[in-house]
Amino acid sequence: MQLSQTESLRRFRVETHLHTSEGSACGQASGAEQARARKAEGYDAIIVTDHFFRGNTRPNRALPWEAYVDAFCSGYEHAKAEGDRIGLKVFFGWEENYGGAEFLIYGLDKAWLLAHPEMIRWTPEEQYRAVSAAGGLVIQAHPFRERPYLKGIHLYPHDCDGVEGVNLSQPWEQNRRALDYARSFGLPVTAGSDIHTLSPLLGGMIFPRPLDTIRDFIHAVRGREEAQLLLGASGETLCCGSENDAALIAGPSAVPL
Ligand SMILES: [Zn+2]
Ligand SMILES: [Zn+2]
Repeated sequence: MQLSQTESLRRFRVETHLHTSEGSACGQASGAEQARARKAEGYDAIIVTDHFFRGNTRPNRALPWEAYVDAFCSGYEHAKAEGDRIGLKVFFGWEENYGGAEFLIYGLDKAWLLAHPEMIRWTPEEQYRAVSAAGGLVIQAHPFRERPYLKGIHLYPHDCDGVEGVNLSQPWEQNRRALDYARSFGLPVTAGSDIHTLSPLLGGMIFPRPLDTIRDFIHAVRGREEAQLLLGASGETLCCGSENDAALIAGPSAVPL
């Protein structure tokens, strides 16, 4: 289903996968710059998901835990301060790496990170148990990504709440596999840009109602509420949600990346 620009702007547009230069070694723009750029593109909310300790994190891992977490959260905090100023909702999350399998964690906060220094030794199963117990959401990011630095494809269908079905920083074939995988396990899907620069990728999700907090996002994903998965500059979208499985099977005819 394709939404016109005007129609889509009336709905609630969320970037679910975004990196800052304060939190991620590969981030090319600060939290404040990201907030301004995404606001200018028409997003209503962004979720900052920097690479955590075992991923391509920016802060020095040799820092004491509290100092590490402080530095890690500064990208989000700068984005949030700018978002408050310009009228963009900014939510907190992170992306953790388990030997190439990466997970997006939503709904927990800095205090939770500070209280869990042992998390850097968890398995995906332990992560899922602990994050779930605290009310957070675990989404396996780009599960079928193939890059020279990634050895193999590692799937954890029983250690996550859902799958990032559309990630605009990889070829469409890898997204098609992720969407098929999510369907075959009956898992909800999300969509995100995985954006690291100020250049537009125009990914994320459009919800038919405002999401005031990260809890609303979690509720919508868990509850498989209807949403549109954004496919980038083409303006094409895919429907997701319990009523829309057929749209996910079909997929777009062609997606420029
Ligand atoms: Zn990165
Ligand atoms: Zn990422």
